[in-house]
Amino acid sequence: MTAPARRKLFVTNALPYANGPLHLGHLVGYIQADVWVRFQRMQGHEVTYVCADDAHGTPIMLAAEKAGVAPETFIAGIKTGHEQDFAAFHIAFDHYHSTHSEENRVLSERIYAALEKGGYIATREIEQAYDPVKGMFLPDRYIKGICPNCGTPDQYGDNCENCSATYSARELKEPFSVLSGVAPEWRPSEHYFFTLSKLQAAVESWLARAEVHSSVKAKLNEWIEAGLKDWDISRDAPYFGFEIPGKPGKYFYVWLDAPIGYFASLLAHLGGDQAGLEAIIGADSTAEMWHFIGKDIVNFHGLFWPAMLRGSGLRKPTGISVNGYLTVDGAKMSKSRGTFIKARTYLDVGLNPEYLRYYFAAKLGPGVVDIDLNLEDFVARVNSDLVGKYVNIASRCAGFITKLFGGRLADSMGTFAPPSDWQTQGWTNNYEEREFGAVIRDAMMLADRENERLQRVAPWKLANDDSPEARTKLHQICTAALDTFRVISILLKPILPNTVAEAEKFLNCAPLTWACINQPLLGHTINDYQPLLTRVDRPTVQKMVEASKEDLAPSAKSAPSSNSAPAKGGEAKTATAADAPRLPPHPPSPSTTSPRSNCASPASKTRNPWKAPTSC
Ligand SMILES: [Zn+2]
Repeated sequence: MTAPARRKLFVTNALPYANGPLHLGHLVGYIQADVWVRFQRMQGHEVTYVCADDAHGTPIMLAAEKAGVAPETFIAGIKTGHEQDFAAFHIAFDHYHSTHSEENRVLSERIYAALEKGGYIATREIEQAYDPVKGMFLPDRYIKGICPNCGTPDQYGDNCENCSATYSARELKEPFSVLSGVAPEWRPSEHYFFTLSKLQAAVESWLARAEVHSSVKAKLNEWIEAGLKDWDISRDAPYFGFEIPGKPGKYFYVWLDAPIGYFASLLAHLGGDQAGLEAIIGADSTAEMWHFIGKDIVNFHGLFWPAMLRGSGLRKPTGISVNGYLTVDGAKMSKSRGTFIKARTYLDVGLNPEYLRYYFAAKLGPGVVDIDLNLEDFVARVNSDLVGKYVNIASRCAGFITKLFGGRLADSMGTFAPPSDWQTQGWTNNYEEREFGAVIRDAMMLADRENERLQRVAPWKLANDDSPEARTKLHQICTAALDTFRVISILLKPILPNTVAEAEKFLNCAPLTWACINQPLLGHTINDYQPLLTRVDRPTVQKMVEASKEDLAPSAKSAPSSNSAPAKGGEAKTATAADAPRLPPHPPSPSTTSPRSNCASPASKTRNPWKAPTSC
């Protein structure tokens, strides 16, 4: 096969919010991106893969206050936990940074200055709810009251959970601040707006060319056709974030500096090399830029971000890959059922992280589809596919090579050789298009075929015949089977990096790459076989579920601490409503100037990945 032209890719993952640990739902998008990055590297492409903690905003400011520590201390602890979990699941970022970093401050100021210079920043006075006791402006999710539509008490300031009505916080009856309990005052404040409307045509033409799934494009186009309105990008003190230069008491809204965090992480990875940074983010960049995100933040990445980049004279994304949500056993992750599973809990019960990578990959495609972790199916699939099919090939044949042939593979596979070269184009395309489920189906088809052939030829019977003909046949069939095992290993390497590294030790070969698929290890000496994977048992999975139920106990009865305030999903938040602003069941509207819209609300930073939105 001919080597593909070497591509230069800059790949990012959505930044986890720094207010709690990762859970299995988070891992869907990280595993998806990491698999794709590993595949691109196996193709010989140059990839820079970065991420960072998203560390700003009102929820973090309040969580740190509640924990009795400075926000900087609070986010540092969370970041350490995130990095440990990513490493354990083999999510191998080249660099992991924080949006609360000097690099990000400098880049945010630079982009803001460019937008201002280009005439894309406007100033407007708005009226916003203010908590006179707490001394701060309130995002809508921090205001509750009686639904103006149906009269249900205790509803958030933007929509009713009972009747689904959406409204302005000002329309709530008997409104109160969830922070202090007092009625909010309405006070004027000067805010800064990014005039997205001026860049609508640019966003539209970028989207027409961008590599974005058709369903996401359709949703984005719907928003564009409705007309992009200007975006409120400032927040008043007190706020944990970057102060806008020359505007005392005004801060960049967390969503302004969050995607810039991709560039900050890249700059940190490059050790501050500005020329290296410009080669990737500059308008003339020839590198590809790919963002892997969840469907809850499509508007930020598909509308605001390309507009910000265009308005500040930088390159725009090449593609955006959007994953859906995770359900467990067919339902929203639930703490009471023990299906709200933290990444750490999965690891602590001793489950192999690669089993989850495999299971998610088997269910992942390019579309924005929610995937279900069915725990029964998880056990069955791992045992059947990985243990029963894939490693079974090696364990069935390795012993004969070791005992009867001194560990040396045959010089020829004879009649057992594949009729022609492995046809890799389909596999390559599937990986490229993020059709990982199809990759796994192909890998398991190869494994099934090889296991059936072994069953037919029965090397364990051949071994009883010590005639030269039988010995040659045995040598060849085992060599051919191990070659199939090698090819499947190549195919699965982006998904199972650790297991395949062990397989490489067994095969005693150089790191497997795509280019070596059609280079069988003939006349080659292998090492003794050690079991590569063990079966997963149902009790271990049950233990994880039980441990996840226990996780609930401390936070249900006490005030949240930095440990108990979990991930950015609102459902995950603990104890008090103040600490648990939740997203409305509607996608954040990208086309509003009003601070009552969810996307303009700081509380929306606690976006909830579990709440099915009405649309993309
Ligand atoms: Zn209502």
